[in-house]
Amino acid sequence: MSDFTMTIAGEGVTAPGTFGVINPATGEEHAQAPNCSREQLDEAMKAAADAFTEWRRDEKARREALLAAANALFGAADELAPVLTAEQGKPLADAKMEIIGAGVWLKYFAELELPREVIQDDDHAFVEVVRRPMGVVAAITPWNFPVMLSCWKLGPALLAGNTVVLKPSPYTPLATLKMGEVLRAVLPPGVINVISGADPLGAWMTEHPVPRKISFTGSVPTGKKVAAAAAPDLKRVTLELGGNDPAIVLDDADPAAVADRLFDGAFYNNGQTCAAVKRVYVPERLYDDVVEALAAKARSVKVGNGMEEGVQYGPVQNKPQFERVAELVADAVAAGARPAAGGAPIDGPGYFYRPTILADVSDGTRIVDEEQFGPALPVIKYSSLEDAIARANGTNFGLSGSVWGTDVDRAAEVAGRLECGTAWVNTHVALAPHQPFGGFKWSGLGVENGPWGLYGFTELQVLHRPKK
Ligand code: NAD
Repeated sequence: MSDFTMTIAGEGVTAPGTFGVINPATGEEHAQAPNCSREQLDEAMKAAADAFTEWRRDEKARREALLAAANALFGAADELAPVLTAEQGKPLADAKMEIIGAGVWLKYFAELELPREVIQDDDHAFVEVVRRPMGVVAAITPWNFPVMLSCWKLGPALLAGNTVVLKPSPYTPLATLKMGEVLRAVLPPGVINVISGADPLGAWMTEHPVPRKISFTGSVPTGKKVAAAAAPDLKRVTLELGGNDPAIVLDDADPAAVADRLFDGAFYNNGQTCAAVKRVYVPERLYDDVVEALAAKARSVKVGNGMEEGVQYGPVQNKPQFERVAELVADAVAAGARPAAGGAPIDGPGYFYRPTILADVSDGTRIVDEEQFGPALPVIKYSSLEDAIARANGTNFGLSGSVWGTDVDRAAEVAGRLECGTAWVNTHVALAPHQPFGGFKWSGLGVENGPWGLYGFTELQVLHRPKK
């Protein structure tokens, strides 16, 4: 039995079976989640389709409901945060911040304008461009920020007049199921349905005939499968996929000043952030100083069970990911990289890995070329800025990047040359609800957030009224 219920047609629903959820701080199964059957997926899709008829009609009612949803999440933050920490691993304070942040996103969309643009008003015609909802949205999320990333989809999808069937990752279904319980108390039945199950459930959703739109956040390989599954039915797709974000330190940077912020940009959520700094390019002259400043920071932070007071970084979220990080570090070390800090797992139960700074490493090493998605950061030396920019761009990823220096205009000029969706100067992972977020190349298709993210949940309709 599971203590957690799915939300279908406004009701709490158990499933014929359950699956275990592991606490990454102990490596032990600590809860059961409902394993949604195909019949239940059909029921969820039908509930969403039925609710769409009414929900699409009244924009004012939708705004009020979204605001109520935001407030309900704010009110439930203390209840949801420990659930999130136990399944995801992040420190309790970060978990609470994630829930509150998710509420902030819902509130932003509750208040965002849904424009009607008049493009012609003359003797011949009155022509408007109007944004219409699509219908049912299938929303699929990963395990790093389950609640926050759900709300990046729910807010704009619901404001636009769509209804949603949401599926979290099987590694972290619990806080999202709880969020479903909270939201079903304030939203009309069927407007949001939350189901949980193993990976095939995601594939069933993308192939299902009901949804008109898939909003997916996850890895590049799965994103490609989602795009392929959507194609035969011409479902609309937004894909927020992986990143391998470069940070370029310029020769006028102050190593001590940048190291702190660079470290935060790389290690927040234990490096398990799509837009984390995943490789750092540093000019020869500053190289040793930047490596040492990052390594000192890595040695000083407290890693542990996210439920314990003072812990800054939790475990890696799951065993395959933990093994992958260990493998990529070992591969780099075998190729001559030097761990200036960390370089090994932490003994004991759970998936804990020492915050790792890898020096004397370069492109052509897996940890530089691939997305490590964990607490290990390669620092690469460069002698020519042009070469560093070329290497930063020499990848199929293009989510975000950053440039660090004292001359901010010069840094901004270099940032503008990065081939990525967001280019930051002297900061990284500075995300906000009004700022569109998406990737170039394999890092995504479409964007989330801001009016641009909202438009992704709409179809354009031309409403043409002749005057004669
Ligand atoms: P993943 O691709 O393995 O899984 C993501 C989701 O897809 C899960 O819910 C999973 O159950 C589901 N899924 C699996 N197979 C499916 C299929 N065939 N069809 C439909 N759904 C399927 O990703 P993950 O390991 O959970 O998350 C980590 C990845 O997500 C990283 O690459 C990270 O960079 C990326 N990410 C991107 C963003 C962004 O906004 N760009 C944000 C967070 C994470």
